[in-house]
Amino acid sequence: MTTRPPADLGMALEAVDTPALLIELDPFEENLRRLQDYLSGTSVNLRPHGKAHKCPIIGHMQIAQGAVGLCCQKVSEAEAMVFGGIADILVTNEIVGARKVARLASLARRARIAVCVDNPLQIAQLGEAVEAAGVEIRVLVDVNADMNRCGVEPGAPVVHLAQAIDKAKGLTFGGIQAYHGTSQHFRGHDERAAAIKGACAVVEKTIEALKKAGLACAEVSGGGTGTYEFEVASGLFTEIQAGSYIFMDHDYTLNKDKDGSTFQDFQQSLFVLATVISHPGPDRMVTDAGTKALSVDTGLPVTHDLGGIEYKMAGDEHGKLMLGGNSVDLSVGDKIKVVPNHCDTTVMLYDWFVGMRGGRVESVWPIPGRGETQ
Ligand SMILES: *Cc1c(COP(=O)(O)O)cnc(C)c1O
Repeated sequence: MTTRPPADLGMALEAVDTPALLIELDPFEENLRRLQDYLSGTSVNLRPHGKAHKCPIIGHMQIAQGAVGLCCQKVSEAEAMVFGGIADILVTNEIVGARKVARLASLARRARIAVCVDNPLQIAQLGEAVEAAGVEIRVLVDVNADMNRCGVEPGAPVVHLAQAIDKAKGLTFGGIQAYHGTSQHFRGHDERAAAIKGACAVVEKTIEALKKAGLACAEVSGGGTGTYEFEVASGLFTEIQAGSYIFMDHDYTLNKDKDGSTFQDFQQSLFVLATVISHPGPDRMVTDAGTKALSVDTGLPVTHDLGGIEYKMAGDEHGKLMLGGNSVDLSVGDKIKVVPNHCDTTVMLYDWFVGMRGGRVESVWPIPGRGETQ
């Protein structure tokens, strides 16, 4: 079940109903190409994270450019992708609970499925589900790359889980995941480099321990938009899981490059279109995009092309442009573009992407993997 699309093909930007989630297709396509081109000169594959877009249409574009498959974070995202025709999924998370695990196993009837584990219970539940479904699933051991979220410690704990996977009928030990999520947004280039150096030490130690136990580590999966260059340079990783690179967001623009300038490997392509609905005083204008249209988990969104006017949240359905007495060429009824602070959690709020090129609507794509689903 989805809502009414906010736009029709060919419409001018000004006619798009709001709040709407826009993709500027020129920078978006350039972003897709850039990371794939960067990796095509290496032996490292791209497995983009689908949690950024939750949309199989975009997944197919990434695969057409050379991605080996997609990552998903939840079973519901994996279902949206597989039912949308994506043939190769890695769930980069621990999946627990008989019902969820059975749904994951059933996807393996239609696609090549892999999942991460860091506990014997997960392996036991997966083993039962694949046997009941008569399918096979690849299982990666999630290693703590020093981010201290999920993941077992490197070395022997990884070997124990890998052996349990190896013994289980229908499960294949597929390698390891070593993702350092928090470091994606470490602002300094050297801070990010240092964090991934730590992750690489974890990977090396683990590969060595697995080798001693006679277990080959086929895949080493990890990396994101903020650190991919370091994982690629390490020579240890076989695939990169970057997700946000296709859209970017304000949070990523606070990262710095090597020379201290703004991180600009990729361009902003995702915007929320909002309408100015009120101009009650010289200090402010009010829009129709509040916290139900723009996520604030990592900070506030920012205005685009409005000379640095601040955007504040003013409720579920209201945003505020803080004019501070400055004159601005805007009236009630005008539409403005806002840059989300965090792309993933903003996409989660919408049923449709409105693809724009040259000020006109070129595409309207559903987002079937969005929402609260399990
Ligand atoms: C979110 C996530 C990514 C992608 O990170 P970006 O910063 O969006 O590129 C990769 N791997 C895992 C496990 C993630 O959770």
